[in-house]
Amino acid sequence: MRAEEIAGYDRAHVWHPYAPMPAGVPPYVVESATGVRLRLADGRELVDGMSSWWSAIHGYRHPVLDAAVTDQLGRMSHVMFGGLTHEPAVTLARTLVALTPPGLEHVFLCDSGSVSVEVAIKMALQYQRGRGRPDKRRLATWRGGYHGDTFHPMSVCDPEGGMHHLWTGVLPRQIFAPAPPDGFDAPLDDAYVATLTDAVARHADELAAVIVEPVVQGAGGMRFHNPGYLRVLREVTAAHDVLLIFDEIATGFGRTGALFAADHAGVTPDVMCLGKALTGGYLTLAAALCTPEVARGISAQGVLAHGPTFMGNPLACAVANASIGLLGAATTPAAASGPGADRDAAAGGWAAAVDRIEAGLRAGLAPLAGAPGVVDVRVLGAIGVVQLDREVDMAAATAAAVAEGVWLRPFRDLIYTMPPYVAADEDVARITRAIGAAALAA
Ligand code: PLP
Repeated sequence: MRAEEIAGYDRAHVWHPYAPMPAGVPPYVVESATGVRLRLADGRELVDGMSSWWSAIHGYRHPVLDAAVTDQLGRMSHVMFGGLTHEPAVTLARTLVALTPPGLEHVFLCDSGSVSVEVAIKMALQYQRGRGRPDKRRLATWRGGYHGDTFHPMSVCDPEGGMHHLWTGVLPRQIFAPAPPDGFDAPLDDAYVATLTDAVARHADELAAVIVEPVVQGAGGMRFHNPGYLRVLREVTAAHDVLLIFDEIATGFGRTGALFAADHAGVTPDVMCLGKALTGGYLTLAAALCTPEVARGISAQGVLAHGPTFMGNPLACAVANASIGLLGAATTPAAASGPGADRDAAAGGWAAAVDRIEAGLRAGLAPLAGAPGVVDVRVLGAIGVVQLDREVDMAAATAAAVAEGVWLRPFRDLIYTMPPYVAADEDVARITRAIGAAALAA
């Protein structure tokens, strides 16, 4: 199909995320992608500043990841997980148990981030029922969060940004504390700690769990907070028999400068959700991990009542294993195109890559602080954010970034990036220039 035909049919018939039908703005047609570059059908090449929504941490067509999928294809692409198991899933579970905070020992593999949040919530509800507390069935969170687009996750998204008004009377009513104060390095705010603690304590009798994105609130506003608030949540939830769920779907696998954002706080939640970068962005896969205590509580009652058709998909598990293996390798542009990789995730190659990108983002975005219309510039790990004093004109901002050779997807008043870890210094510099151009155009 020619590019115009693809774009034309797409616009008239194919839904895109958060889009009307037919689409308001035609999408760009991508023909292929290699390393950190997307190649458009018209031949233009764009550095991907979005890592395909936080997932493609090793870039595209990585030889090790391609080989993992191809090898697995030669064995089986899928078998049902009811009554059957296989090495890719078991290896992945073992790796996740080893890498995640100590105490998370049981792994539920599912299809997408939103579904893993559904499973985490189901775990919490069944756990409380298993302990004879069916009255503990509400959730608490803080404002500014995002946990996915299916119904229970939507109920804990930020009530304003999360389009709750569309769903009044449909979504379960959850408990919302104020958003955590801004700033990874900001001192803990005692008044906020008291508010948070009080919100959990006051509702303890009806609360199954507290769910938050640790350290970075992503699609709810790209805000960073002091990891100390996670320790506060750990203490108060434990004191009141309320489970603590960390949604690390966006933050997991090094993005914030720690392998998991929970590691910044040294906290083990009762349940943790992973997704996005789990497969290096190759295939859709997510996981909900829980502690033995949670697993016992659920199993006392019978079974965990969830079992998707594509649970534990072998192709996805195989590429996840390879992607996690690459995290230990020197994640440099050369490694992205070279054969083989160090599979020792403990070696921490990702950390050097994230540090390097963080330095590049800080240097490149610093000049935008104080620029007209810019209210904040913030960087944490391989995440760079420029906040404007107005809603971004998405079409204009995107076009300005594309003219600079970069793919960005701003939202609300935010232009942001989380580049693939294999982005070279020149790529990061180009991304920050494009963010500047997008801010001017927006
Ligand atoms: N939770 C967080 C923190 C996310 O950032 C996202 C996606 O952006 C989700 C959940 C939902 O994941 P998915 O889009 O794979 O359903």
